[in-house]
Amino acid sequence: MLEVQPKDSRGYFMLPQAPEDAGYYVYGNVGGRPNTGRLAQYAHPRLLALIFYIEREWQAIDDRKFGIGNISIAGGAEYDGHATHQNGVEMDIRPVRKDTLVGPAARLTRFDAAYDREATTNLIRLFAEQPMVRIIYFNDDHVQRAIGGARVRSAARHDDHFHVEIWRSP
Ligand SMILES: [Zn+2]
Repeated sequence: MLEVQPKDSRGYFMLPQAPEDAGYYVYGNVGGRPNTGRLAQYAHPRLLALIFYIEREWQAIDDRKFGIGNISIAGGAEYDGHATHQNGVEMDIRPVRKDTLVGPAARLTRFDAAYDREATTNLIRLFAEQPMVRIIYFNDDHVQRAIGGARVRSAARHDDHFHVEIWRSP
């Protein structure tokens, strides 16, 4: 594959847009809005490395793909008025579904029947076990307790995705 990945002014690459055999798919709030979707997926090199590592680990235990959304926009400008997602060290991931649906229609919350709590716990645990992960936000307290160590905490609006943030330096 000789595809050239777009690179921003910080030297950060855009997350590869989920090739067929990837363990993840990408989603975004596109709808004609600027700086959404793939344009909001510029990642710090250490975050990219983490994604590729977790992707392999996940594929060893589950054949569903996990959905990756907002990371940061090119150059790290403010995104949608939020103070976060400016440094390429944070990303949003959808909870795992009981089915294999991907794409925009695959959005779900932890309250939906399609929400697979056990698989979501497994996925979040893979991230929580990595020392480079600083904090994870997701509002399912069952998941928080299962993982323990206050690695997963609640935050406003984190019902339809979990937020993973890594330390800015090793
Ligand atoms: Zn987030």
